[in-house]
Amino acid sequence: MKVLTDVMEQVIKRNPNETEFHQAVSEVLESLEPVAEKHPEWLKAGLFSRIVEPERQVCFRVTWVDDNGNVQVNRGFRVQFNSAIGPYKGGLRFHPSVNIGIIKFLGFEQIFKNSLTGLPIGGGKGGSDFDPKGKSDGEIMRFCQNFMFELAKHIGADTDVPAGDIGVGGREIGYLFGMYKKLRNEFTGVLTGKGLEWGGSLARTEATGYGVCYFMEEALNAKGKSFKGATVSVSGSGNVAIYATQKVHQLGGKVVAMSDSNGYIYDPEGIKLDTIKRLKEVERQRISKYVESHPSATYTEGCSNIWNVKCDIALPCATQNELDGEAAKTLIANGCYAVGEGANMPSTPDAVEQFIKNKVVFGPAKAANAGGVATSALEMSQNSMRYSWSFEEVDAKLKNIMVNIYKGASEAAKEYGQEDNLVVGANIAGFLKVASAMYAQGIL
Ligand code: NDP
Repeated sequence: MKVLTDVMEQVIKRNPNETEFHQAVSEVLESLEPVAEKHPEWLKAGLFSRIVEPERQVCFRVTWVDDNGNVQVNRGFRVQFNSAIGPYKGGLRFHPSVNIGIIKFLGFEQIFKNSLTGLPIGGGKGGSDFDPKGKSDGEIMRFCQNFMFELAKHIGADTDVPAGDIGVGGREIGYLFGMYKKLRNEFTGVLTGKGLEWGGSLARTEATGYGVCYFMEEALNAKGKSFKGATVSVSGSGNVAIYATQKVHQLGGKVVAMSDSNGYIYDPEGIKLDTIKRLKEVERQRISKYVESHPSATYTEGCSNIWNVKCDIALPCATQNELDGEAAKTLIANGCYAVGEGANMPSTPDAVEQFIKNKVVFGPAKAANAGGVATSALEMSQNSMRYSWSFEEVDAKLKNIMVNIYKGASEAAKEYGQEDNLVVGANIAGFLKVASAMYAQGIL
């Protein structure tokens, strides 16, 4: 449709070199053609041009002093993309690859993901090109404090509530929250992923990984399959990967491969999660160390080779574009029948095309990994009530949300003539709610 093609052209022209952002917008706009045809009033209100432009984006200098007394300068970002259905909500990523294009792609995806949860949260994302790897605790703390010095001016419990993402876990959220509290002299739920003693929610740590499995179990069940007895590969070994692995094991599947950015391990007897948790969560070690204590396992250099491992179900849980068209073909040739995206946009457009064409049960990120942000929204609710729910209560709500996301995406896919295409279904279901809210609120 001409209007949508024009919007895409404008996005490319206005945001040169932001390839990941272009990729994310292009996928969503393609899915929205039938919606645009059905809603001429949204076209007239310029809704499609407005939704691809962040409401606000801030970019700031973060200066800190390393352990050797050297001054270091990093760049911080916060993109407040869309607040039509609630305060901006989305994680902070600390990784050397971070730039404005990456943050915008993540923020854009977040709008629809947050809408899919059914909870009142808008879309945002932030981060820095700071590399936490190899930094001391003191350096991490000084960086986080200086990052929050600036970020605090732009966020608030009813305005924008950041959380963790790659490189930002419980330790970093603690330092960030401490500085916000000191600067504002207020104890509010301004960040999620907090420690349990100071406003965090039970099951938040597990939520994204568990949520991917709840979503995929529902999608698999619809095709007469399940995790039970399945062989599974999980890329990454961070927060999402660890808890996805835990849930796969609880559901009766066997995870045989995991990775980090250097390489992957293969353990045909099933990966022992206790070892991974010790190496990654406590010792902050490389995954190659796993083979030292598990003779049944092998280590292979090169993280993308993990997709050569034969598996029934693949859960990419590391980072964007980690699974390309060739990897998708290899997975399919090896009998893989389901892929659930734990990471954000881990499959390239070529890979997605392969999955859809070959009728692989494919759970796209914005639906499959929405459990993290959903539970963050539950953390916000508990903070507002000054109350906390038990692990079981939060986990049950999370499961219910993931089942509903699956239903919403699959029903939308069917309604718009693309049965079983959860990419299209998730994009449409996520978009409809935000679009009606934007339309109701006038031209802004
Ligand atoms: P973590 O920092 O805890 O873990 C990231 C993992 O991915 C690590 O094992 C890391 O290896 C690996 N990794 C990072 N970059 C690369 C790369 N370029 N190539 C290969 N592997 C890489 O992050 P999370 O687990 O929190 O996040 C993982 C993904 O899930 C991200 O896409 C994130 O946006 C998404 N996500 C996270 C949510 C959450 O609640 N945490 C919610 C929704 C989505 P190494 O240690 O070597 O760097």
